[in-house]
Amino acid sequence: MPWYRGDLHVHTARSRGADRTPEQVVHEARAAGLDFIATTEHDTVDGHGDWAPYADELLVIPGQEVVTRTGHWLAVGLRPGRLIGSHYGIRDGTVDRELARVRADGGICVAAHPHAPYPAGQLAYPLELFDAVEVWNGPWTSDVPWQADNGAALAEWSRGLAAGVVAGQWRPVIGNSDAHLAGQLGTPQTVVRAAALTASDLLASVRGGHCWIAASAEVTLGFEVSAGDGIAGPGDVLGTSGAPVRVAVVVGGVPDGVIRVHTEQGVVAERAATELTATVADSGFVWVSVRTAETMAAVANPVLLVDQSPAHPSPSPSRSSAER
Ligand SMILES: [Zn+2]
Repeated sequence: MPWYRGDLHVHTARSRGADRTPEQVVHEARAAGLDFIATTEHDTVDGHGDWAPYADELLVIPGQEVVTRTGHWLAVGLRPGRLIGSHYGIRDGTVDRELARVRADGGICVAAHPHAPYPAGQLAYPLELFDAVEVWNGPWTSDVPWQADNGAALAEWSRGLAAGVVAGQWRPVIGNSDAHLAGQLGTPQTVVRAAALTASDLLASVRGGHCWIAASAEVTLGFEVSAGDGIAGPGDVLGTSGAPVRVAVVVGGVPDGVIRVHTEQGVVAERAATELTATVADSGFVWVSVRTAETMAAVANPVLLVDQSPAHPSPSPSRSSAER
């Protein structure tokens, strides 16, 4: 299946603090190596029609950034013009209804920048309420692509992953630029393995964790986990028959990177190189990250390891997707 690069959190001048036109966004998205974006203005869907003239140049998925009093979340894959309710807080008990409206459209709900260091930016809702977690949010007012709040989000996700896998409710990670201004789009970006470049295929793949996060289009990642004849990638389930599995990682575009292999035991292999192979045992999952001294370069969703044989494909997402 092919891989597509996208950015599911993008603003134009319809959002406060942003100054881009749709035309500028489309050009910058192509320049950043993106195949798709989601339009996610703050609490408005009035701009969903703005993108029609560019339909041949870029897939633009209709969405919204939902601003609540206790954090932000992304509704991605809305029926055009569908407005999702906002401005409630965690004590109002309203969010479940709004999350359900997004899913009824075939969309996904993303916990946005859960540790953002500004008022109401930190997400008070449990990550489990959402379909994916934006552990890497772009530089916005900074020129440093990987910031402390991203580190906090990744640490929170990673600490909860083992229990989530055991409970059958782990959530995949994604990365988005949250671009407001020139030069921000696509840093970072999410690389998605999907049957086709359509909103429903891409969002189903994101929901299943068949994706990884890249700092830019320059960064490439091969992450394969194998057992017997079975080979698995991000979001896949691999039967292990209880035996150790082989992990193979190949990185491009990060000459000074350090590859790390993570399991239930934490970091179990680490190498300053562009390739790594390791053997992993006694874990329900394995995921990888690549970073340099200054910044993160890539984060890949886990391969799930089950004591069965042989490899079998991950269960396909069951939610039906609406026409759009
Ligand atoms: Zn935003």
